[in-house]
Amino acid sequence: MIDSHCHPIAAAGGSLDLSAVGLDIEAGAEADQRRRRLGPGRLWHELLQVRLAAHLGCAVEGLAEARAEASRDWPAYVRRLFRHAELEGLVVDPGWGGHATAGLAVTAAAAGVPIRPILRLEPVLDSAIAEGATAWECATALEAAVREAAAEGYRGLKSIAAYRTGLAIDPSADLGRAEASLRRDRDLPVRRRGKACRDWLLRAALGWAADLDWPVQMHTGFGDSELRLAEANPLLLDDLLLTSEGRGATVVLIHGGYPWHEAVAHLATVRPNVYAECSLVPLFAPGLVADRLLRILELAPAAKVLLGTDGHGQPETHWFAARTLQDAFCAVRDRCHALGARPSWVDEVETAIFRANTARLYGL
Ligand SMILES: [Zn+2]
Repeated sequence: MIDSHCHPIAAAGGSLDLSAVGLDIEAGAEADQRRRRLGPGRLWHELLQVRLAAHLGCAVEGLAEARAEASRDWPAYVRRLFRHAELEGLVVDPGWGGHATAGLAVTAAAAGVPIRPILRLEPVLDSAIAEGATAWECATALEAAVREAAAEGYRGLKSIAAYRTGLAIDPSADLGRAEASLRRDRDLPVRRRGKACRDWLLRAALGWAADLDWPVQMHTGFGDSELRLAEANPLLLDDLLLTSEGRGATVVLIHGGYPWHEAVAHLATVRPNVYAECSLVPLFAPGLVADRLLRILELAPAAKVLLGTDGHGQPETHWFAARTLQDAFCAVRDRCHALGARPSWVDEVETAIFRANTARLYGL
């Protein structure tokens, strides 16, 4: 499998604290306590522990010590996990930096597979806005970051607009309104500041990506506790997708738009340049992955669907999500056979979504 969306791994091993991994990312001692109390009650947490214990040949109760011991040689440990998950390549967003992640080079070396980094737009914009930059200065900073990333071998863009001012991007935002929005919103937190500026520049970035032949990953659907889910509905993107920039760029709607799978499938079906990607779901919502995949594959062409893990920090997250996707596809296969699809057709779908589509889009 080629992972179409993930993040760097931690810089070193040790005992694994799964309660620190998850969608509740509030800071503080009280939140830490809550995560420790509630963590083991999550289905993915239970399944990952059980499967990792089987992989390491220990009891779940002895997992912390067994993992610490097994991960002493960190690159060897990571490689074994990635081999077991049949991960052959990674599209990595290094813009997520929790838990002292290693850099791209360290991630590639430890994983032992080729990687393609993508540039997250919002950190560049957030720093410019926080420093009081004008809209024009924000545009200059963003364009320079894209140029620099291209020179460093990056192969795509990523936007978390859903985590900022939402996916209802106004295509009529221009320089004048962008500037006015920055001046007006000075008292708001940076993340909620300058909607017109963010909208104007996201549209511009789609144009730059089209020129570079880079895919643009757009966060859609569920995410961590900083997200307002109602602002992450993929259908809100329609106005942007109908602009010339929105039609010109390859737009990848990530996380299957959870829970709006049919909406993502529809957009991938009717817009020639839009793709549906299914990372994060197999990691944090592993119980119904086959059903969710079928909700997308019953409508969208297989050539428009990509699979990813959203693994981040601990390499077991990449491993667990990849294994979950592979298991889920067995159920998808059975269901397609039962419906009457030919085995050769299902084989082609499997190759397309696990490997070929991501390889084609990111040059892997
Ligand atoms: Zn991610």
